[in-house]
Amino acid sequence: MAAPWEDVLRNEPAIQEAASVAVDAALLEGVLMRTEGEPNASDVVNYAPFTLLPSAVPSALFEQAYAVQQDFNLLVDAISQNKEFLECTLASTIKVDDFTARLFRIHMQVLEEGLAQSVFLGINRSDYMFDCGVDGTPSLKQIEINTIAASFGGLTSRTAAVHGRVLKVLGKSKEASRLLPNNPSKGLALGIAKAWELYGSQSAVVMFLVEEVQRNIFDQRCVENELWNRNIRVIRKRFRDVFEKGSLDDAKRLYMDGQEVAVVYYREGYVPTNYNQQNWEARLLLERSRAVKCPDIATQLAGTKKVQQELSQPGTLERLLPGRAEAVARIRATFAGLYSLDMGEEGDKIAATAIADPDRFVLKPQREGGGNNLYGEELRQVLEKIRDSPERTSYILMDKIKPQPAMNYLLRAHSPLQVSECISELGIFGVYVRQGKEMVMNKAAGHLLRTKAIEHADGGVAAGVAVLDTPYLV
Ligand code: ADP
Ligand code: MG
Repeated sequence: MAAPWEDVLRNEPAIQEAASVAVDAALLEGVLMRTEGEPNASDVVNYAPFTLLPSAVPSALFEQAYAVQQDFNLLVDAISQNKEFLECTLASTIKVDDFTARLFRIHMQVLEEGLAQSVFLGINRSDYMFDCGVDGTPSLKQIEINTIAASFGGLTSRTAAVHGRVLKVLGKSKEASRLLPNNPSKGLALGIAKAWELYGSQSAVVMFLVEEVQRNIFDQRCVENELWNRNIRVIRKRFRDVFEKGSLDDAKRLYMDGQEVAVVYYREGYVPTNYNQQNWEARLLLERSRAVKCPDIATQLAGTKKVQQELSQPGTLERLLPGRAEAVARIRATFAGLYSLDMGEEGDKIAATAIADPDRFVLKPQREGGGNNLYGEELRQVLEKIRDSPERTSYILMDKIKPQPAMNYLLRAHSPLQVSECISELGIFGVYVRQGKEMVMNKAAGHLLRTKAIEHADGGVAAGVAVLDTPYLV
């Protein structure tokens, strides 16, 4: 899987020059983040971390990931409409995991009241690593699917240009011309625009629901700009604003400050720390409304690790996607081993196996955003402590994917340039829109490659571990 720049990796002067060009190109292209010190001001910004060189990605696996994305869109959408499936699958989890339980309660309350929403918009990102088999052949294995606040579709739309420049500086123009165009922010915006249009009120706005701390605002602005270009008005609000100024009318139309909201695009609300009592009330208000939520709470629940584990059980995919044998086969081919820790013999057995051989597994709680999973010795200790307690059912076990590392330089503001052994994770963005029972849009909207040094087991770009990258197909 080697990329054709092994020859320059140790050429220090060339690398130094390329790195300084790369940083300026990133700033020029808008691969930006606010700083840790001033996360809510744009007076001082810096480049988002990225690799100096594009990373090699096997083209067959890249194509496979694109080819299965529409199937995953259908699957997530089907799960979100299947009350019994979510109820059964999450039954053991919500007994011990308060966050999932609270989301689930809102889901049930909204269903009992009757759904006011009739247009549905899904934006997800399915993440993969390239597992290196015993014979060295890589295969595509899904890490997870993110059904809420999947990020970096904006910034990644601008990284290929930076890497193209770097390759040219290093005398590799031919390779530079092979980098693929990629614009998820446009695809995401097309989905939002379609949902806005179907909602059917010219004067209504799109509301980005954003966090209190907004370091990654430029990523969101890329999507926002695409909407303004289509003359769709965008407002940015926090849960706190919704609590203070949001209201529903008799037809459950959502208003913010007197403005009708057609679409609520969540870039917030996926971790427990996003919520206090007021924020939970704001979330409930939004979910009860007619506005198109991206995602609605059922779709957020469809992205839990517990649901992912249940999908790998024999027969589950067939039940969720009846009559779609080919889609089921494409989806299943991407699954790594996933194991339930529910109380009972099967759970006891896999817990014992993982305690005896922790390096084979990852222990995952029902959390998003990176930095929550447990590996190796820590996995063993935690699992040993909870092996006989129902607390273990708040986790799932997954086979650890072992990709082949490659050398690259990770560029981070205020960090010295040094070569690292790295592994990459490929994400494909999916977008779909459903009106009532009819799918009116179902697309793969682009990709994201993130790369990290192998010493970090966990964590994404926002968590400060991975950096943005561009695939170079081999
Ligand atoms: P989160 O929802 O917190 O992003 P993920 O399931 O995506 O959780 O895991 C976070 C990170 O941990 C991934 O980006 C990946 O680097 C690593 N990881 C997760 N699952 C596996 C696995 N099965 N094998 C190897 N690494 C994994
Ligand atoms: Mg993840």
